[in-house]
Amino acid sequence: MSILVVGSVALDTVRTPFGEARDILGGSATYFSVTASFFTDVRVVGVVGEDFPEEHIAFFQARSIDIKGLKRVPGKTFRWVGEYGFDLNEARTLDTQVNVFADFKPEIPKEYQSSEFLFLANIDPDLQREVLTQVRNPQLVAADTMNFWIQLKPESLKRTLEGVHLLIINDSETRQLAGEPNLVRAARQVLDLGPRALIIKRGEYGALMFNDGRWFAAPAYPLEHIFDPTGAGDTFAGGFLGYLDNTRNLSEENVRKAMIMGSVMASFTVEEFSLNRLRTLTYSEIEARYREFKKLAHFEDL
Ligand code: AMP
Repeated sequence: MSILVVGSVALDTVRTPFGEARDILGGSATYFSVTASFFTDVRVVGVVGEDFPEEHIAFFQARSIDIKGLKRVPGKTFRWVGEYGFDLNEARTLDTQVNVFADFKPEIPKEYQSSEFLFLANIDPDLQREVLTQVRNPQLVAADTMNFWIQLKPESLKRTLEGVHLLIINDSETRQLAGEPNLVRAARQVLDLGPRALIIKRGEYGALMFNDGRWFAAPAYPLEHIFDPTGAGDTFAGGFLGYLDNTRNLSEENVRKAMIMGSVMASFTVEEFSLNRLRTLTYSEIEARYREFKKLAHFEDL
């Protein structure tokens, strides 16, 4: 069991109403892989520049993440600068410097090409497709994207979606991609683009899954201290797919449990800047919060 992820490995500068942190570890593939590593083996394909600190490489290694596919090349690492207001649900991008990603051509190492689970994290849709062509026969292809790519490369993104089984995006991206304000109608239109299932992340309101005409709603944990929402979406995806890869059961029932596990992991990430909360997280804390989620969403007919 192992998941292959391709996405950004970044240095982020993040401003929230509670403080600012500069050049901290971030990136879609980073949040995804560190989270998924709690459940299964993870292989990362991406690129960093000469300025990427060795201590971050050591962190990947300490979590037993396979970084054979993470290249270090001359130039600067991908950088993202984002800001959140008091409504922490949506990041405002202040600056994106693609840097070494500008010339990046993903090369999937031979031993990764038979990966059964693949996550195309938020990255240029052209690159997502280049990865798809190199992986032989994946059982499950999940993908993320963001407003930046929906706006910049809509046609390329649509071509990528033809090869994706599960799309994991937030509510405003769903509306933007479909060009439709109603979320239910937008979800149907997104599925017409290719994916069999759609997960819509809704920040502090949880996540919705839509497939085969059915909806499932996972709540978000009502946290008293949300410090930095960056990476919550990728962490959700890492928990969701990590759990599915670990259990190897794609039944509707198990996929719903995976939605809760994604929400559990995201609820931890937002408690501190960058991936700091994941550095100290233990399995018993994960299990305890999973039980809390069970109580949160449980109801019975009287
Ligand atoms: P999330 O909050 O889960 O949507 O993802 C946040 C991460 O996405 C940050 O750590 C950023 O480094 C990364 N990111 C932001 N913009 C882009 C982009 N255009 N392409 C790839 N990754 C990005």
